[in-house]
Amino acid sequence: MVYSILRCPVCNSEYDINRSSYLCDKCGNILDIIQNDLDSFELSNYDGVWKYKNLIHPGIDKKYIVTKREGNTNLYKNFKISDYSGIENIFLKHEGENPTGSFKDRGMTVAVSEAMRLGFKKTLCASTGNTSAAAASYSSFAGINSYVLIPEGRISKNKLFQAIAYGANIVNINGDFDTAMANVRETLKKRDDFYVLNSLNPWRIEGQKTIIFEIMEKLEPDFISFPAGNLGNTSAFGKALMELKSMDKIKNVPKLIAIQAEGASPFYDYINGKMDKIVPVKAETIASAIRIGNPVNFKKAKRSIEFTKGIVEKVSDREIIEAKRIIDGSGIGCEPASAASLAGVKKLRDSNVIGKSDTVASILTGNILKDLDMDLKYNAMNMEDVLF
Ligand SMILES: *Cc1c(COP(=O)(O)O)cnc(C)c1O
Ligand SMILES: [Zn+2]
Repeated sequence: MVYSILRCPVCNSEYDINRSSYLCDKCGNILDIIQNDLDSFELSNYDGVWKYKNLIHPGIDKKYIVTKREGNTNLYKNFKISDYSGIENIFLKHEGENPTGSFKDRGMTVAVSEAMRLGFKKTLCASTGNTSAAAASYSSFAGINSYVLIPEGRISKNKLFQAIAYGANIVNINGDFDTAMANVRETLKKRDDFYVLNSLNPWRIEGQKTIIFEIMEKLEPDFISFPAGNLGNTSAFGKALMELKSMDKIKNVPKLIAIQAEGASPFYDYINGKMDKIVPVKAETIASAIRIGNPVNFKKAKRSIEFTKGIVEKVSDREIIEAKRIIDGSGIGCEPASAASLAGVKKLRDSNVIGKSDTVASILTGNILKDLDMDLKYNAMNMEDVLF
């Protein structure tokens, strides 16, 4: 039985999964994984991501699976978050609790397992930080070499530290994330010995679908919000909901809310009708994980927003910092980009797009320890502040 195939979402050309190019030969668009047998879905014996093996990579042999038990993260409810957002039933899904501290582990376990199945010895990615930490960890865990291209001086030291410590080969790129991503795409044209681990790899998208599977087992949300950069999650979440709907596992489809930073919001402009195609921008925001001006997954992401009748919002750095203070101060904590998730929800509640009695799931994409530069700057007190 052929469980999964690759299909072009634009021209519908189909390909076998035993190839490692994820671009359509005919039109150049990024391919999708199509699961052929969703109807006979059953849960497997794994914990976390691979519990949904039959929805993400049904055909892969157990011996190739590289897992650190990622997934199965907590969903928090806290009065400070409810007070701040003006929404009683708001839940925070904490992806910072994954093994390397971000949701990237969910996609990485599937992509690195596929690298093993295909027999690769080297992996390659461009990264704003968290992808490189996850790529380095999972590649080393599997016994293969990782190469990560990072925008020099523009990634958090904590994330770079992880990549180095886990044993990645670090390549400094003189430019921003988008330049590093362009370098990856050029390298893939010239060389076939690197396996790509960016979210243009559709197996990453399959793994990231499990965030939605876990939420939908616990809640019936009206909205699901998350920060949006390269749009891998936006693509994955819509695909997960399409599949759940087609299997009749859910009645109502929650609306996706993708939140961009104001200084890095090409998808916001595209979807909200100000542009008829995506126009790359020079990205600037304190939230380095979403500092992306030319997102590769914009076509799949548009499909997700359309399918769920979703929303794309943008928030300022000031709103991100304010929301981060609330999340950190509630004892939950997250990295800067993650706080956009709550900042955007507050903005949409204030303008009454989200109602007071709606149920909202907001995804915190990364751990509080991921970006210390920002926090250490602001929070010190003098002894006089304590005494008086
Ligand atoms: C990668 C990342 C994002 C952006 O996700 P996309 O799928 O690229 O849109 C947001 N937050 C954190 C913490 C990340 O690591
Ligand atoms: Zn095509």
